[in-house]
Amino acid sequence: MDRLSYEELVRRWKRVSRGSLFEAGRASGYPVYGWRYESGGPSIYLSTGIHGDEPAGPMAVTRLLEEWPGWFRTFSWMIFPCLNPWSYERGLRHNEKRLDLNRLWRENREPEIRAVRRSIHGLRFEIAYLMHEDYDAKGFYLYELAPDRSSAGKRIVRAVRSILPVEPRRFIEGRRVTSPGLICREGSYHLKGRKHWPEAFYLIGRHAGHLFNAETPSTGFDLGLRIQAQIKGLRTAMELLP
Ligand SMILES: [Zn+2]
Repeated sequence: MDRLSYEELVRRWKRVSRGSLFEAGRASGYPVYGWRYESGGPSIYLSTGIHGDEPAGPMAVTRLLEEWPGWFRTFSWMIFPCLNPWSYERGLRHNEKRLDLNRLWRENREPEIRAVRRSIHGLRFEIAYLMHEDYDAKGFYLYELAPDRSSAGKRIVRAVRSILPVEPRRFIEGRRVTSPGLICREGSYHLKGRKHWPEAFYLIGRHAGHLFNAETPSTGFDLGLRIQAQIKGLRTAMELLP
């Protein structure tokens, strides 16, 4: 399976948008879209495509929006289906200014980040779910921030195992796994003194009660499988909500 162009992704979102799609901002000449849907059910923040060389997330979200499965529409969503279009189009991690946007959430400076911060101002989400891919990974893994101390990560990793192997590394980006394929931090999270905030920190600090950051391997597995794994992970997280 091949990745779709950003133009094609946008064309597909617009075709099925039911008025839920909005232009959240513009960055490097591209519109950055958000998607808001209110069902009255538990609220979820879902974002992906902040790194343009990780296509499984934007493709997975596009498939969900197109297929609009029953489980999906019982929740309320704020979705950013491709946060960094300039880089997505070029298959690059960094944006046009050669910045890694996933380190800059402490500041409200970059237009991609400003678009999100403005759109979610004053909103709370039960869960934030971020989709990424990792060039070095040999399998699926998950970061989890659980201030409520109710870790669900093991169940998600177990569910995705039917699609992709579990990442075998015991240390990932300098952090020791808490169980195979899972780096979980339970309890409160102090942002003071931390200089480079990823999107996850911003969300858990201000907007979300619980956070998952799912990682599929960006090489070595067919894109179709990686998309399936991302959807399975998200779906399992949703099933844990009341
Ligand atoms: Zn990433």
